[in-house]
Amino acid sequence: MEGAQPAGSRWNFDADNREPPPKGSPGLDVSDPWLPEEDDIDEQVRADLNRWERGGRVSFVGRDGPREFAVTRAEALSTFEVFLRGRLALFGPYEDAMLASDRWMSHSMLSAPMNFDLLDPLKCVSATDDAYRAGHAPLASVERYIRQIIGWRDYTWHVYWHFGEAYRDRNKLMAKAPLPHWFSELDADAVAARCLHDVLADVRDHGWVHRVPRLMVLGNYALQRGWQPPAVADWFHRCFVDGYDWVMIANVIGMSNTPMAARWRPSPTPRAAPTSTA
Ligand SMILES: Cc1cc2nc3c(=O)[nH]c(=O)nc-3n(C[C@H](O)[C@H](O)[C@H](O)COP(=O)(O)OP(=O)(O)OC[C@H]3O[C@@H](n4cnc5c(N)ncnc54)[C@H](O)[C@@H]3O)c2cc1C
Repeated sequence: MEGAQPAGSRWNFDADNREPPPKGSPGLDVSDPWLPEEDDIDEQVRADLNRWERGGRVSFVGRDGPREFAVTRAEALSTFEVFLRGRLALFGPYEDAMLASDRWMSHSMLSAPMNFDLLDPLKCVSATDDAYRAGHAPLASVERYIRQIIGWRDYTWHVYWHFGEAYRDRNKLMAKAPLPHWFSELDADAVAARCLHDVLADVRDHGWVHRVPRLMVLGNYALQRGWQPPAVADWFHRCFVDGYDWVMIANVIGMSNTPMAARWRPSPTPRAAPTSTA
């Protein structure tokens, strides 16, 4: 903001931000995301999880692979710094685009560390604003990133607590079909359609795809097949590294799977929202 006015005299820059991926290029021209190096703790955690799974205490879907997301404060800061310096500039224009050969594109990969409470979302917003004011990032990308945090992340948090427990069972379209086994078990190789195959394989191998495959490919597919919304939400929760009930329910039940849920009225006694999203 510039006083009471939006910087650039517009409230959003969506018109500048809906670029298709560059033609003929396998990826975006941005720095690689920061990736962690596994250490003894990762080894121990992996051994524990494998032992618990063998003993029948837990069960997982997907394929194990190197850890790709920050789990300490220092790692979270490194991820954010690399994003701010080398990736933010192209965040806006390509945020809604998908490329089979570039699964990260210019996304920040910060939802998991933010949900773990390792980064304060508001401080990320301020640092992004500072980058714009210092001339290090264009307004269209900065506006888009800030809006994802305060316009979506924060919004879904309040939707979840405001609407209360019954929101989860909202099913205005009366979708009743169970999830097929190939979807529940992330059996991407059972899918012939290239787009769905690739997205499902990324979930299987990495536990993460960005917002557009989640919404436009997975959520939309589930909506069209009439799969039960709470089962779809559980599936997202189970398969994604950043899965938390508060963000899943608002995104899956509210946005992807039951679009008419927006008309749902709050329960008479909405839950009080805690102060931390972790
Ligand atoms: C069906 C569906 C399920 C989702 N489930 C989750 C979930 O369980 N946990 C989760 O953290 N996010 C969820 N999201 C939101 C979003 O897809 C992820 O936050 C994002 O893809 C994480 O990658 P990133 O950090 O690189 O995000 P970026 O694309 O870099 O976005 C920046 C930040 O904005 C916030 N954000 C962006 N979009 C949303 C959104 N729709 N709702 C809330 N916050 C948003 C996140 O904090 C994210 O880190 C879901 C979206 C959809 C459509």
